[in-house]
Amino acid sequence: MSLIDFTKTPVTEIYGSNSFSNAVMKERLPKNVFREVLAVQEGEKELTLAIAEVVAAVMRDWAIEKGATHYTHLFQPLTGLTAEKHDAFIAPTGDGKVLMEFSGKELIKGEPDASSFPSGGLRATFEARGYTAWDVTSPAFLKQDPTGTTLCIPTAFISYYGQALDKKVPLLKSIDALSKQAVRVLRTLGNETTKRVVTTVGPEQEYFLIDREYYDKRPDLMLTGRTIFGALPAKGQELEDHYFGAIKERVAAFMRELNTELWKVGIPAKTQHNEVAPNQFEIAPIFLNATAAVDSNQLVMETLRSVARRHGMECLLHEKPFAGVNGSGKHNNWSMATDDGINLFEPGENPESNARFLLFAAAVVEAVDRYALLIRGSVATSGNDHRLGANEAPPAIVSIFFGGPLTEIFDNIAEGKSGAKTESGGTIKIGVSSLPSLPKDVSDRNRTSPFAFTGNKFEFRMVGSSQSIATPNTYLNTAVAQVLSEFAAKLEKASNKNEAVQAIIRESYAKHKRVVFNGNGYTGEWVLEAERRGLPNVKNAVDALSVLTLSETISLFENHNVFTKEELESRYHIYLEKYSKQINIEAGVTIELARRRIFPAAIAYAAGLAGSASTLAAIGAVSAAPEKRARRIAEICSELYDDTSKLETVLSEAQETADSLAQAKAYLEKVRPAMETVRAKVDALEKITAKEAWPFPGYEELLFKL
Ligand code: ADP
Ligand code: MG
Repeated sequence: MSLIDFTKTPVTEIYGSNSFSNAVMKERLPKNVFREVLAVQEGEKELTLAIAEVVAAVMRDWAIEKGATHYTHLFQPLTGLTAEKHDAFIAPTGDGKVLMEFSGKELIKGEPDASSFPSGGLRATFEARGYTAWDVTSPAFLKQDPTGTTLCIPTAFISYYGQALDKKVPLLKSIDALSKQAVRVLRTLGNETTKRVVTTVGPEQEYFLIDREYYDKRPDLMLTGRTIFGALPAKGQELEDHYFGAIKERVAAFMRELNTELWKVGIPAKTQHNEVAPNQFEIAPIFLNATAAVDSNQLVMETLRSVARRHGMECLLHEKPFAGVNGSGKHNNWSMATDDGINLFEPGENPESNARFLLFAAAVVEAVDRYALLIRGSVATSGNDHRLGANEAPPAIVSIFFGGPLTEIFDNIAEGKSGAKTESGGTIKIGVSSLPSLPKDVSDRNRTSPFAFTGNKFEFRMVGSSQSIATPNTYLNTAVAQVLSEFAAKLEKASNKNEAVQAIIRESYAKHKRVVFNGNGYTGEWVLEAERRGLPNVKNAVDALSVLTLSETISLFENHNVFTKEELESRYHIYLEKYSKQINIEAGVTIELARRRIFPAAIAYAAGLAGSASTLAAIGAVSAAPEKRARRIAEICSELYDDTSKLETVLSEAQETADSLAQAKAYLEKVRPAMETVRAKVDALEKITAKEAWPFPGYEELLFKL
């Protein structure tokens, strides 16, 4: 453990010291080369080999000065994890010596082969070549750990035939699509200066920490990331005494090292606090452009894990590590900003900026309503199935929270009211030169909404804690791009822009306001109300993923050049297979542990009880209690025996199902419930078996000891 003394090495010095940021490039690259790199980042130019050669040489020297021996292209295959393949800088000179080399070609393009990554049929193994290409919008950095230093280059991963094999390529394309349509809209509003619009993303990451000693004794945690069994302890999260409570010293030491590691690579880790569940925490870096945010969130997850291990703990990123206590999510704060510094979701100071704000906000409302299934589908994983729809996380129904004042303003516009003063003080002037002047703080708070407007950004809260944020942002960007393209087409034709803006907001909002909901999203009433409003409520990932096969989805993505039909199809199958595989592992672990650990332990304990009963009887201390307890355990064990066999039967049926959809459905509808039945028996046994006789540490240790 290497805790830095910040009085000797100030944060300002540490920050970004391992990041090949624009500041470093500006300092080290020749002026004209740096300018070229900026132009490539802005999407104005393509990277030439000549420029890449210069950048590569400078990057190499910088990395080697800091002790790097290897470089790697980092990419995000469809496993959702980050993949890397390391190469040393060495190049033999023929006389038994080496030079340290790194060419422009090696910077721009790598060929990791990577034939074992899922491609969903896009590649046969014999044509397995996949390429990684440098993503200039996300800075290269050095990964330093006790084993050495490696230069990491964020890349996109494409097949030999140009199809996207990763999560980065579509994300980049969706950012381009959104930028293009947003700029079109801005032009019609009289903006002549903005060249590009980027999406900004700030993910808040939730996680659990548990002591490694206990983790190592829980094969379910080690193999599946969650507890497959576990009776609830006497104390849960009901006291809410953990939320925002004082951070324990051991955790504080962990967080200090975590922050230091993240700061070094230029990840602006800012906020940290205790979360609702015991031993649950959150870290939120300051937002970055979407590609850097996606890459850095992957790195945050990896760093959480490795730093936790250095502190004798394990970090759990699963969406639902413990039954009966809150799960973990990731709040994806999302906004759109122009290259000249305007946040498009910042309510303005004057009529023009208000009109712009209301128009872009209306586009989000329309996009979220029209593409609600897609938004839902972007967070469809087996882990998230435990979370969405339980009464804690956002429900599976996609709705938008706007808060009172803003909803009122939109309602008034939709109803065509003019000159009306809203209760909260905003004035509505329609027909003159202005749209409403907005009250100062247009947004209040609502923690139960899956998609909340929070003052100058939207916060998408359905994202699972372990998932890459690339997909949710890709879908969201594309959906909003589509609506903006329709707005732009209308505005470009309109002779009176001002009237047209108002008409667009009025019509769009009137049609899509059903998706706006400011109440408590965790209640049963909302479920019924949402049904009345015709909002979809897709409760499981298998159904949610089917959105990828709809013709509207295909044309949406094809229109904006984000995915081809083929790519969508392949992703659909990969995600279904991943879902099945995860439950397959969980079911296997359930059977294994029930049969070989729990059953024997419980039976031995019951036999011991029976033995004690006769020992006691021998001295005349007659009690029916030990025998009663032994009987009860034996009864549950025999049910457990049968239930485990039933699980085994449905599991092998699911395993033999060939079609990927039918298979995922079998896991969802047959295997999962059978696992739950086994779990109920095991948890009942845990409650009446002596603690010393139980084969694993329980929820008490896992959740409360740190
Ligand atoms: P909240 O209390 O609403 O969660 P915070 O200010 O703590 O708000 O911000 C949460 C996250 O949202 C942080 O990561 C923050 O950097 C990010 N964020 C703030 N502004 C923007 C923006 N314009 N675009 C994207 N993310 C943003
Ligand atoms: Mg938040």
